[in-house]
Amino acid sequence: LSDRLTSVFSSLRAKGRLSEADIDATCREIRIALLEADVALPVVRAFVAHVKERARGAEVSQALNPAQQVVKIVNDELIDILGGETRRLRFAKKPPTVIMLAGLQGAGKTTLAGKLARWLREQGHAPMLVAADLQRPNAVQQLSVVAERAGVAVYAPEPGNGVGDPVEVARTSIEHARRQQHDIVIIDTAGRLGIDQELMKQAADIRDAVTPDEVLFVVDAMIGQDAVTTAQAFMEGVGFDGVVLTKLDGDARGGAALSVRHITGKPIMFASTGEKLEDFDAFHPDRMASRILDMGDILTLIEQAQRTFDEEQAAKMAGKLTSGDGFTLEDFLEQMMMVRKMGPIKNLLGMMPGMGQMRDQINQIDDRDLDRVAAIIRSMTPAERENPKIIDGSRRARIARGSGVTVTEVNNLVVRFFDAQKMMKRMAGGLGIPGMPGGGA
Ligand code: GDP
Ligand code: MG
Repeated sequence: LSDRLTSVFSSLRAKGRLSEADIDATCREIRIALLEADVALPVVRAFVAHVKERARGAEVSQALNPAQQVVKIVNDELIDILGGETRRLRFAKKPPTVIMLAGLQGAGKTTLAGKLARWLREQGHAPMLVAADLQRPNAVQQLSVVAERAGVAVYAPEPGNGVGDPVEVARTSIEHARRQQHDIVIIDTAGRLGIDQELMKQAADIRDAVTPDEVLFVVDAMIGQDAVTTAQAFMEGVGFDGVVLTKLDGDARGGAALSVRHITGKPIMFASTGEKLEDFDAFHPDRMASRILDMGDILTLIEQAQRTFDEEQAAKMAGKLTSGDGFTLEDFLEQMMMVRKMGPIKNLLGMMPGMGQMRDQINQIDDRDLDRVAAIIRSMTPAERENPKIIDGSRRARIARGSGVTVTEVNNLVVRFFDAQKMMKRMAGGLGIPGMPGGGA
């Protein structure tokens, strides 16, 4: 008996899981797509391994073929990783809110200072830009031009007073902003073309002098593979709370986004898409995911296939519901399997405060329960599934033996099914179906 039971379960599993060959074949393609998108190699490795793990645990989809299904898992996972912890700017309880920009020279910090200022001004804030890049001769001038275009104030050392000390400028700017009723201070800093210890220390000193509410790491999307070393260096040298990706209007596929996110774990908050101040937006994980994968057509197909499938399912079920009688044990099984496939709901439960430790229990109880019910129904003849009324005592005993459960469990299932069927009939006749168009409340 127990052998029989094991084989029932293993055949369920074998049918229910994606094959290793399917997963491998698609993951090879994904790997190439990610490398072409300039995702750093260690990140590609880690990500693909992670996706394989997820794909191995996934139920075979009825709507998608295996390759499509793996691509969908990859896409979902990308969106998840890129969008995890997406958050808005943190404002200080006591103004001004201090935002400090850090990054390599040419990353787009000064331009971003203007974009951010304009964006914040449109939301009713009164930002002030601070020129703490005194490294390049015309950096102050550049920031003043940007500030004027953004229609915001700028704080800079007096011209003609020598080079000046960027840390001092940053420090005094805060008091100045407070006096002038600016609720946000955006500090532009200097960067080198390569990672430079002296400038890293200067940025760290500015950070210590002003204790920013947000340090934003500004990174050029075209940087590609170098994103990892650069992000790591700034993480260690200055530290940052969020990332801004610039030059997304270029042809870079955006692998830097995944690399930086993966390496630092910090949220990508904004995207810069051009030289003009209005070329700026919050970061959209889904757009970035399809840009990195570059499988727009496939993703559209997957979406369509799934939508069609869902609609067919819904229509089928609605038909059954309105006729009442048409609802069979076969449908009962199908519905149960649909519930079982709702992994995200289980995950949600697991993420709720206090539910974390129960996560394994939630998963196990649920799945085993459903597997047993499935085994019972699969031990029935088609005639029994179609018309459970014919299931008498001897049939129950046979079904119990066949599925390796007790007669009581078979009884319980049949009773539960009749209850469900009764409820369907009640809803279909007279009362209407709650929540459905034309149905009663
Ligand atoms: P910083 O050295 O980090 O301050 O970088 P800048 O703000 O001076 O920008 C360097 C160059 O990149 C300038 O020519 C900018 O106009 C340009 N730039 C900045 N952001 C973008 C962007 O999102 N798209 C494009 N195409 N160019 C940008
Ligand atoms: Mg600059």
